[in-house]
Amino acid sequence: MSVSGPLDGPIELARLVPPGELDELLDAVRKATGVELAIYDPTRKVRLAGSDAAGAPRHPVEYQGELLAVLAGSGERADAALTLAAETLGLLVHHASARDMAATMHEEAMRLTFAELTEHNARLQRAVARLEELDRLKSNFLATMSHELRTPLTSVIGYAEMMAEGLAGPITQEQRDYLATILSKADQLLGMITSVLDVAALESGPLALERSRLSLADIVASEVATFTSQAGKRGIAIQLESRGDTIVVGDKKKIRQVVSSLLSNAVKFTPDRGRVGVAVRPGPLSPHEGAAEDVRAIQLVVSDSGIGIPRDHVAKIFEPFFQVDSSSTRAFGGTGLGLTLAKAYVEAHGGRIWVDTAPGQGSTFVATFPLRIEETA
Ligand code: ADP
Repeated sequence: MSVSGPLDGPIELARLVPPGELDELLDAVRKATGVELAIYDPTRKVRLAGSDAAGAPRHPVEYQGELLAVLAGSGERADAALTLAAETLGLLVHHASARDMAATMHEEAMRLTFAELTEHNARLQRAVARLEELDRLKSNFLATMSHELRTPLTSVIGYAEMMAEGLAGPITQEQRDYLATILSKADQLLGMITSVLDVAALESGPLALERSRLSLADIVASEVATFTSQAGKRGIAIQLESRGDTIVVGDKKKIRQVVSSLLSNAVKFTPDRGRVGVAVRPGPLSPHEGAAEDVRAIQLVVSDSGIGIPRDHVAKIFEPFFQVDSSSTRAFGGTGLGLTLAKAYVEAHGGRIWVDTAPGQGSTFVATFPLRIEETA
């Protein structure tokens, strides 16, 4: 470490040793020898301590080869007094300069640490700005790409529908089956693209909700109906139970999407001949409000007898694009966006969403919608 500053300059007695200490030194010598002394700076013009009575400065004091001061003193025992004073002064300066050097080195070390921290900070700030820029670019890319993909896909769906209806001439049963597959896959693709667009919208600003009074039980019943046949083909029965008043104030489209995500996952991650149960009932708003009679929300509870979720993945399933099995050979399709959207939509209503699950033991997802409108975000 290179040290600069006061250590490089001449040793200055006045800076190193406070005047009070010089006076004390002269007092002590006077008491011991009876001689009156004075201390002058190296120019012999400035008196640093002592009085005129000591006479002219004449006894130089050196420290590490440099002239430090010149002492004055006259009278019978002056020589002994001057030698004593010069030696004591040397000691004083030695201690003072050691103190000074330690302080300067400490200061210098602090200055270097501070400079390193400032540089570190600047680097972090540049990295954050770059990441924010990349994040913005990613969101723009997602929004633009999904929009551009959606437009031609709607045409594919439209033309396939027209062919299926026979508008381009008669078709055979086999052609009708093929068209049905094209339509179902295109619908699936459209759903995925729409999810990506919805997530991009989440990142671009606060959600706008179109609120109205809704019966959660009615929404759930109609969504269950759309999954019944698909689940039935795999021997999965969906049991629906609703209890009490289930009126909430919220955005119908978004609430329907929440119900649909939870139901579709329950069916998807449950083996054939498993069970899926859906309940709508008044209850607590969050899992921490233990008492069932603490009714502050309408709860939507979707439980299944499916594969469950390992404990260390539970917190991540609500993150965008996260899937417990993300391998290319995974058994279940999907984008990993359903729960991200469901969480955002539930929370925009002032509600909570959580899951109780264990591998091989099924999962129970609970989404709540607050009863009182002033609780909504
Ligand atoms: P997707 O279903 O499209 O993969 P989601 O965001 O809906 O995306 O879910 C994320 C992940 O959470 C799923 O891929 C799955 O690993 C896990 N998951 C969600 N619901 C269930 C469930 N009912 N049972 C087991 N795992 C589930």
